[in-house]
Amino acid sequence: MARVFNFSAGPATLPQSVLERARDEMLEWNGVGASIVELSHRGPEFMEVAARAEADLRALLSIPDDYAVLFLAGGATTAQALIALNFAQPGQPADYVVSGHWGKTAIKQVAPYVDARIAATSEDNGFHDVPPPSTWTLTPDAAYVHYTANETIHGVEYREVPRVDGGTLIGDFSSSIASEPLDISRFGLIYAGAQKNLGPVGVTVLIIRRDLLEREGQPRAEILDYRAHVRGESMLNTPPTWNWYLAGLVFRWMLDEGGVEEFARRNGRKAALLYDAIDGSSGFYRNDVAAAARSRMNVPFFLHDEALNAEFLAESKAAGLLALKGHRVLGGMRASIYNAMPEAGVQALVDFMRDFARRRG
Ligand code: PMP
Repeated sequence: MARVFNFSAGPATLPQSVLERARDEMLEWNGVGASIVELSHRGPEFMEVAARAEADLRALLSIPDDYAVLFLAGGATTAQALIALNFAQPGQPADYVVSGHWGKTAIKQVAPYVDARIAATSEDNGFHDVPPPSTWTLTPDAAYVHYTANETIHGVEYREVPRVDGGTLIGDFSSSIASEPLDISRFGLIYAGAQKNLGPVGVTVLIIRRDLLEREGQPRAEILDYRAHVRGESMLNTPPTWNWYLAGLVFRWMLDEGGVEEFARRNGRKAALLYDAIDGSSGFYRNDVAAAARSRMNVPFFLHDEALNAEFLAESKAAGLLALKGHRVLGGMRASIYNAMPEAGVQALVDFMRDFARRRG
């Protein structure tokens, strides 16, 4: 059984060497006679795995010391809700920038807790661009400004960290974390579900500037309290140890490959290859996103004739190119090309697309 190139948006492809190591350690981890998932999260073995993962993530992302790192269950969606409970007073305004589907879900999650204001949205133009930060209408007493760095479905991305004039910036980096260097010190908080660039689904990473933890927030159970999670080192209850362990292997792999600078170079080359193939197809393929906002991670594209979609999907799958079907919100196709997608995978996709267009053009 050969592994294929997998363009899934998340859960997404993982580095083969990471999967091989996890396979090798599955029955017995590090000579202890049991797998790491069969051991207590509070035992010395998992504590070592957890500490190593955090240290490697800190090194990988150059996380400053005044930021806490959490590894929690619940996914990015739970984080979206808890951000409001932890960092806004009941009914306090909070600014939301909506550049695609996930910006909208973020508002849905906080609606019971804050007065969510839409500081800017590109919905009117079908999310084909991101609202420039210069056009954001910020509320002076907003608890924070939330934006989605990369919109996984609409394929639009902010390439610069927006300036928010002394406001607290919160970024959803679920689908672009670790894809290029990022100045974390510009943020109050960033969060990401692991299942795109960091590992398997099941663990969510939060990077929180410690002074935010002094905010009172709203009445909440201890398990919903980030301050308590920081104090408890992400072990208030049993954490998702397998996912944390696997994410740790991915962090080490990224460091060994040359870190985020190297991934930025690779990701730039991969995205250019794919967008050039789309733009150079004489209209056979189309991507509608404004050039400056095109995502390097998720590339939605459409065939000029939708009647060819089923054939495109069947033939690409037969050619070893998996999961190119677009999200149901947009239709068409989508290629997710995260860090773990090798350049050879994008080359194979582009070769297939050119061949398909030649045969059906
Ligand atoms: N934000 C973004 C940008 C996403 O891509 C996703 C998932 N695709 C989510 C939030 C929701 O993440 P989860 O399913 O982990 O809750």
